[in-house]
Amino acid sequence: MTRSQTGLVVIYACGMVACFARGGTFVDLGFWAAAALMYAMGVVCLAGVLFELSLDPQDDCPADPVPPGGIRTRYRTYRAVRAARRRMCPCDRYWTSIGTEHDDWCPRARRTR
Ligand SMILES: [Zn+2]
Repeated sequence: MTRSQTGLVVIYACGMVACFARGGTFVDLGFWAAAALMYAMGVVCLAGVLFELSLDPQDDCPADPVPPGGIRTRYRTYRAVRAARRRMCPCDRYWTSIGTEHDDWCPRARRTR
């Protein structure tokens, strides 16, 4: 849901609450035509809320996340992934410190200090 849709939902919901509340007031006062008009406007606001909530969110992801390319692109991607995997470490402190520290038993601990 975008910000504009959220804003419209809030505006419609506030209008709906106000219309129904005013319609109840008019029923108490005996102004039936005005009460019917207020309830009708409240139903229109409710329809606006439901319409905005029923819209599908925009799909920012492309249908195919893999970029088009031949075997060279795939090989470059494979090498980048392999290099990233080589930089990872299996010790727990590496993962809990966002890759800045290593456990004492880790063979990579001395390289970083
Ligand atoms: Zn480590």
